[in-house]
Amino acid sequence: VRRLLILGGTAEGAALARAASGLPGWSVESSLAGRTRAPAALPGEVRVGGFGGPEGLARHLEEAGIDAVVDATHPFAARISANAEAACRLRPTPRLALVRPAWEPGPGDRWTEVAGMEAAVAAIPPGARVFLTVGRQEVGAFAARGDAWFLVRLVDPPDAPLPLARAEVVLGRGPFDREAERALMADRRVDLVVAKNSGGEASRAKLLAARDLGLPAVLVRRPEPPSGPKAADVAEALDWLRGL
Ligand code: NAP
Repeated sequence: VRRLLILGGTAEGAALARAASGLPGWSVESSLAGRTRAPAALPGEVRVGGFGGPEGLARHLEEAGIDAVVDATHPFAARISANAEAACRLRPTPRLALVRPAWEPGPGDRWTEVAGMEAAVAAIPPGARVFLTVGRQEVGAFAARGDAWFLVRLVDPPDAPLPLARAEVVLGRGPFDREAERALMADRRVDLVVAKNSGGEASRAKLLAARDLGLPAVLVRRPEPPSGPKAADVAEALDWLRGL
């Protein structure tokens, strides 16, 4: 039996774990960073926490006898993807990046794409009411905008008060529903969505709701994707595994 390591923390990583654990001849280990307090259950083995850089990950590949790695981490999780590239060179191991396509605007969308979080902060009009879904680690960048009001969506309740002068926290984890997103945004009188261009179906609903309500969105462009072979979805990743 060959062993697959899935670097996860995404809906696609979980879907691949479910699909690959049914693949004859493979066993699956999923790795999570440990950022969410109660991650959803996964089939197969699950390990939690950092590896200790590329060397630590290479050591894990050796010790756990890993035969293939699928990097299914979030498109904005650039450090772990770079570590995976380096580790799979140090301890030669086939590696595939599962990269879901970025969202593209459709008719009725009023999107501004910006290069990074600082540009997103600057793109907020004075006094705006913002639905902010950039993740806990990025919220601090918006502290300078005391003029704006933020509806901040997080997976877990924050450990400390957010560094925002005027904000409400709403807890939630995808997949989200278009009508529910529309109702939430209308109820809080949101006039702008600020998000990462993460791609994928689980968190797209807020942008469809913004379209329904005629609201603009500021989307942060993703960093460069990992090098090497890529799959756009779980089916393509399974094809790659079958071909090994
Ligand atoms: P990151 O900045 O790329 O990685 C920082 C460090 O966290 C890595 O160097 C590694 O520590 C550890 N790490 C990250 N992902 C890991 C994994 N799957 N398994 C074991 N260790 C991991 O990562 P991040 O942006 O904080 O994302 C952390 C996790 O949340 C990832 O699993 C990602 O898929 C998920 N996520 C991220 C976002 C986002 O917007 N960034 C959104 C949704 C989900 P060591 O160097 O010690 O190995």
